[in-house]
Amino acid sequence: MDDCIIIDDLVVFANHGVFKEEKVMGQRFVISMKLCYDLYPAASSDDINKALNYAEICSFVTEFTRSNRCCLIEAAAADIADALLKKYSILTKAEITLKKPWAPIGLPLDRVAVHITRSRRRAYIGIGSNMGDKKAYLDFAVKKLSEDESCIVRKVAAYITTKPVGDVEQDDFLNSCIELDTLYSPHELLGKLHEIENAAGRTREIHWGPRTLDLDILLYGCETIHDEYLTIPHPQMTKRRFVLEPLAEIAPFAYDPVSGEYAVTLFERIKQNDMS
Ligand code: ATP
Ligand code: CA
Ligand code: CA
Repeated sequence: MDDCIIIDDLVVFANHGVFKEEKVMGQRFVISMKLCYDLYPAASSDDINKALNYAEICSFVTEFTRSNRCCLIEAAAADIADALLKKYSILTKAEITLKKPWAPIGLPLDRVAVHITRSRRRAYIGIGSNMGDKKAYLDFAVKKLSEDESCIVRKVAAYITTKPVGDVEQDDFLNSCIELDTLYSPHELLGKLHEIENAAGRTREIHWGPRTLDLDILLYGCETIHDEYLTIPHPQMTKRRFVLEPLAEIAPFAYDPVSGEYAVTLFERIKQNDMS
């Protein structure tokens, strides 16, 4: 989607900078923004209530930039983008150019600027529980993610009861899947999910053993990641019916960049295999 609102050269007096004089005296910064969202509802209705209020955005950015203090303009620009995306859930992407005129480098310089792009990314989280009040644990995960200002929960699949896989004797599972739009990077999101698991009393004693709450990142956009902390897409995803069934329910066309297949195709195949 290419629709956007552009605000050019908003001048703000603020206190970002590495040097003491910059922090104490402050200086002028010049901010340009390209804010992406679907303009169609406003454009087709000519209704001011369906448009983003750019006067309000300028006041918000001015106030935010004045009260925020960073050493680097890189950080200051990223903070503005994050703050805008958190405040306006309608925005899909924020591009910020933060210009610092007359940077104090002792040479004739017009300005130095950074340009930063931040966007919400779509992720799918597999959720499961097979201890205690399983439904309450899944509800807890949904609530925690809904309350997080860096996340928007778009959909939650029906909770399904599934048989445990592997050799460990344990209770049945309750499984589901969450569609999430998030400002977190994949590793930040993993950290957030671990926090929520810990808050639900998750311990890791037996591999693939009983757990109060398990939160796995199934997909993160179309990214493929493999390092010591994280593998995306989730390596077991395509082999697990308890993952594919809820995923295919809420996002049949979620795309697995490794197999090159849609969730619905992967689920239909595993269902056929189960029946044969
Ligand atoms: P499985 O990953 O086979 O479903 P599990 O969920 O029981 O097994 P955990 O003990 O919850 O395994 O996770 C072990 C580690 O896996 C985590 O600490 C995390 O660093 C890593 N990990 C790698 N990729 C992912 C991912 N996509 N989602 C969640 N954790 C992941
Ligand atoms: Ca898991
Ligand atoms: Ca896990």
